[in-house]
Amino acid sequence: MKTIAVAIDGPSGAGKSTIARAAAGHLGFVYVDTGAMYRTIGLAVCRAGIALGQTERIQSVLDSGIQVSLKYEQGVQHVLLDGEDVSASIRTPEMSKYASFVSAVPAVRAFLLQTQREMAKTHNVIMDGRDIGTNILPNADVKIYLTASVETRAKRRYDELTEKGENCDFEEIARDIQERDARDMNREIAPLKKADDAVLVDSSDMTIEEVVNTICSHCK
Ligand code: C5P
Repeated sequence: MKTIAVAIDGPSGAGKSTIARAAAGHLGFVYVDTGAMYRTIGLAVCRAGIALGQTERIQSVLDSGIQVSLKYEQGVQHVLLDGEDVSASIRTPEMSKYASFVSAVPAVRAFLLQTQREMAKTHNVIMDGRDIGTNILPNADVKIYLTASVETRAKRRYDELTEKGENCDFEEIARDIQERDARDMNREIAPLKKADDAVLVDSSDMTIEEVVNTICSHCK
């Protein structure tokens, strides 16, 4: 069966997951959130007592035989670490840092590459991440590079956290986003960048619905 693949890449907080989930619903495709997989490895590394920066210790976690798998319940992705559903535990600011840290390690990227490609071989997918259009699915049928200004992205995250009742500082969020952008864009392996054939969508002044419609129209 010929499957269809839509790749959505872009920096943190550009709205990729919200947009990709909605577009996948419209198109009847499976939404694959690859960031969740990096976060899961980050969690395994953190649980192993490895501090941020101790890159040389990461290989031992991969060698210990950890398994990262995806499961779908009513279209919602759950990510499993050795069979444990860690979908909620990976959504913390600490795991954002761990994900970004482990994602710069070539062995980690190689570890996840096969699972991601396999998903696209067997399902019609909308896959979001940083290197989907450039590296994981270079032949994707549609490639989108979704971005927004740092201010917009920080404001969205700030609103999201305060809505949940969490205390947060706008400047700190903006700083975290900029640091993560810099790490993701400047790492040696599979850095975040727009694929030459990707459509650039800047969501700074667009509603979610407008972005979803733009993406769906490219897919059609
Ligand atoms: O998308 P999300 O913010 O959950 O991703 C967490 C981190 O995982 C990113 O900051 C990035 O460092 C890494 N990542 C990556 N490649 C992907 C997806 C995520 O390097 N395809």
